[in-house]
Amino acid sequence: MTDRPIPLRAVRTAAKCPTCGKEVVAEYRPFCSKRCADIDLGRWLKEGYRIETDEAPTDEEPGGPGPPGNRPTGQER
Ligand SMILES: [Zn+2]
Repeated sequence: MTDRPIPLRAVRTAAKCPTCGKEVVAEYRPFCSKRCADIDLGRWLKEGYRIETDEAPTDEEPGGPGPPGNRPTGQER
């Protein structure tokens, strides 16, 4: 979940925190602190969640709206 493709070169050299732009701390790389990591991670998860729920919830059977068992006729399907 937390592992993202990070360009090694960017990490090796003096990288900057993508959240606030400060100097990256090796312990929290590629961020400068845990807080920034959480912020970025949260933002990232949010985006992913939004994409996942992009699909329209189609749980009802297609054909006609109405509660099941309350149909006037059972001949036509
Ligand atoms: Zn930061």
